[in-house]
This record gives sequence, structure tokens and C-alpha cells, in this order.
Amino acid sequence: MPDASDTHEDLRGGRSPWNAAHEPPRRRLDKDLRCSVLIVGAGITGSLMAQHLAEQGHDVCVIDRERPGLGSTAASTAMLLWEIDKPLKTLTEIYGFEHAARVYRQSLAAVSGLKDLVALHRIPCAFRPRSSLYLAAAEHGAQTLLAEHELRQRAGLPGVFLDHRTLLGKYGFDREAALLSPGVADTDPLCLARGLMTAAIARGAAFLDADAVRYEDSGKTVAVATGDGPTIEADWVVLATGYAMPDFVQSPLHSISSSWAIATPPQSPEKLWRDGVLIWEAATDYLYARTTIDHRIIIGGEDDTEMSDPDERNAQTPKKTDVLLTKLHALQPAADAVADKSWSGAFGQTRDGLPLIGAVPGRPRLLAAYGYGGNGITFSYLASRLIAATIAGRHRAEYDDYSLERPLPEIPD
Ligand SMILES: Cc1cc2nc3c(=O)[nH]c(=O)nc-3n(C[C@H](O)[C@H](O)[C@H](O)COP(=O)(O)OP(=O)(O)OC[C@H]3O[C@@H](n4cnc5c(N)ncnc54)[C@H](O)[C@@H]3O)c2cc1C
Repeated sequence: MPDASDTHEDLRGGRSPWNAAHEPPRRRLDKDLRCSVLIVGAGITGSLMAQHLAEQGHDVCVIDRERPGLGSTAASTAMLLWEIDKPLKTLTEIYGFEHAARVYRQSLAAVSGLKDLVALHRIPCAFRPRSSLYLAAAEHGAQTLLAEHELRQRAGLPGVFLDHRTLLGKYGFDREAALLSPGVADTDPLCLARGLMTAAIARGAAFLDADAVRYEDSGKTVAVATGDGPTIEADWVVLATGYAMPDFVQSPLHSISSSWAIATPPQSPEKLWRDGVLIWEAATDYLYARTTIDHRIIIGGEDDTEMSDPDERNAQTPKKTDVLLTKLHALQPAADAVADKSWSGAFGQTRDGLPLIGAVPGRPRLLAAYGYGGNGITFSYLASRLIAATIAGRHRAEYDDYSLERPLPEIPD
């Protein structure tokens, strides 16, 4: 299980296809500092937080102990889905329809917010609005998908049900059925994170090279001791450390597994599926696939819930690569099933598929921003908006849907 000391190398291995252009400059922390909001971590979560809070006029300071964006963010396949890992039906069984529908609608709004943000700031990150195709699998066939579709309609969520014939005719996928949903997107996650951090710096955020080693609350502020000695005092501290979570945030709600992904070389466009839809399956251990702006196919999955040791994970990569290539061939026989890049990473999930966002129990000035699972980046955006509202004194009861203190849910079979 990862802990607070885990480095980028512990959290991911191999090579992903993302473009490492323009690393935002950091300076050394050589003396004590005071700011209104300190963000710990400069992956996609910390970058979204920093850009939003700096834009709102806060005196923001961001620290990272390693190179920005090269943690889990660089391992992401960056499918920006609003559909949560737990189907609406399952979430309804756990929390009731109103609660589940609210969460789904917030997730839909989060992807839309990300799209607007990237367009507004013209962040060069290969961001492409897309639709997603949620494919029936052995575990969940056409009837399950139809029931899910009807529930989504009741919740006011967009999308259509495709039966076998329509799916095969339109996309060439030989599955029982699928749900086609608009309002998702894909991107280059590293460029997105770095572009946002650059925008935050332009808005006055300070970006420093430092390792947060201790957090001491004293009434209205938090003093954060760093590895090199200086202390940063802040009114609020946002924890955006990815899977390197401090002990006091560890929650029985979440667990870590491993996931693998490959990218093919660029393909000729006619070998790709229609409209570059984002693909995932109605299965617990689902396969996920997307295309890129330079016509690669990225396909991932093969998750192992028992494995979190980096050496074991890396050792499995050749075998997992072969399995993913076989699955790619079965999905899209026209494509060249060759791996140009293979990589793997720690992958977090929660029991209910929802992120951990909000105050650390008993420490109201420490705010956690931990998005998990296949919606990690969508949830990071959500975290940035909810946490900013909390800092502004506009906390709403519904934010507690993501509270670190929510009871451990009963998961239906
Ligand atoms: C194979 C794979 C595929 C994925 N696919 C998707 C997908 O398609 N869509 C999606 O939305 N999500 C996906 N995810 C999940 C997504 O990658 C994560 O949710 C996201 O990257 C987390 O970003 P982060 O900024 O929270 O963490 P990170 O990117 O890990 O950033 C955290 C930063 O905090 C820094 N840090 C940690 N501790 C300290 C400290 N004490 N002091 C200073 N700095 C510190 C680290 O150095 C790091 O740079 C995938 C993940 C994997 C592994």
C-alpha cells in the first residue's frame, strides 16, 4: 500500500506517450514563508487547485518535492469521463436515487467545466470533446445497460442506448449493446497539468521545490514543516499528494490496486474506430480505450487489486502488454496491435466509486483533494471547485457526499 514517502518511481513505471513540453519553473524554499493557501502536490489535482484559487485572488503557494506532473498524472490515460466507476443503479442502491443522481450530475458538470477552462485559457493539451461508449460485457448484458440507461434518463443525464445491430453497424463492435454518452473528453494530462500550473504562476501563485514532512494546526493556521528546514504557515492547506497520502488521511473507504496501459504507434486513421469515442466496459475489471490526436490507440485495464508493490507491478508489464494487445485485436481487428509504449501505475479506488474531498477529520484547516479511479481527473476538477467554495465560506451540505468521514457503505452484490 503506498504511503506518504512514495516517490513518482514507486507510483508508476514504464513510459507513457505524453508530451513533457514546458515544465513550470520552481524555486527553492530557502526561508520561512506565509501564504493564505498552501497546496501540497503539483500533479493535475494541485494544478487545478492552484489555477482556480490564484484566479480568485488568493495568495497561493504550491510545493512539490519532485518534478511537476510526473507522478500518477503522467500515468493517466486521461479519459475524462463523467460516468462513475459505479453505475448509477449501484450508486442508487447504496445512497438512494436523489443522492446518486446528484453525484452523477456534478460529475457531468465537472467535465463540462474542464472543457470551458481549457478553452478559456487556451491551454495547449490536445483536449478533445468526445462521446463515450459503455460496452456490454459478459458480466452485464443488454438488459443491465437498458436499465442503467432508463435510470440515467430519469436523472436528466444525456445519452442513448444502442442495441447490438446499431452498435455493430455504426461502430463495428460486436457486443450485445452499449450506451453512447456525450459530454466526455480526452486530453494529454501532463500538458494539461503543466499548462494550468503555468496559468497559476502567471496569476501570482508561488511554485516551490519542497517536501512537506509535518503539519501542525494552531487554531486559525497550519504550519507545514519542510524537509529542508523552512516552515510555511498558511490559513488553509490543500493536500493534493495523489496516492502518497499522509497517514492521517488514510481511510478505510479507499484501496490501491495496479493498472496497466499501452499505446500503439500512430495508425493510419481508417484503422481507428468511428469518432474517436472513449470506450469502456460494463465489467468490474473493465478494459478502457481511447485514441490520441496523433492517431495512436491507448488501451488499459488488467487491474490487479492485490498488487501495489512497484517491482512486482513492473515485472508484470510484459505479460500485461501481451494481454492488452490480444484484447485490442479482439476489439478492433483492423488496428495494428503493436505496443509502442507500455506503462503501469498505482490506481486508487473507493468502495463507492466517489472521491475523498473535504476537511481532514478533526483538522478543519487541512483540506483533502483525492480523486480516485477512472474518474480521477474529473474528480480533481470537482475537488478544486468544492474546496475553493469551502475556503470562501460557502460550504454546502451536499459537499459531504464526498466527505472523508462518510460511513463505510454496504455494497450490493
Ligand atoms: C494506468 C492509469 C490510468 C489512469 N487513467 C485515468 C483516466 O483515464 N482518467 C482519469 O481521470 N484518471 C485516470 N487515472 C487516475 C489519474 O491518473 C489520477 O487520479 C491523477 O493523476 C491523480 O493526480 P494527482 O495530482 O492527485 O496525483 P499525482 O499526479 O501523483 O501528483 C501528486 C504530487 O504530489 C507530490 N507530493 C506528494 N507528497 C508530497 C509531499 N509530502 N510534499 C511535496 N510534494 C508531494 C508528488 O511529488 C506528486 O507530484 C489513471 C491512473 C493510472 C495509474
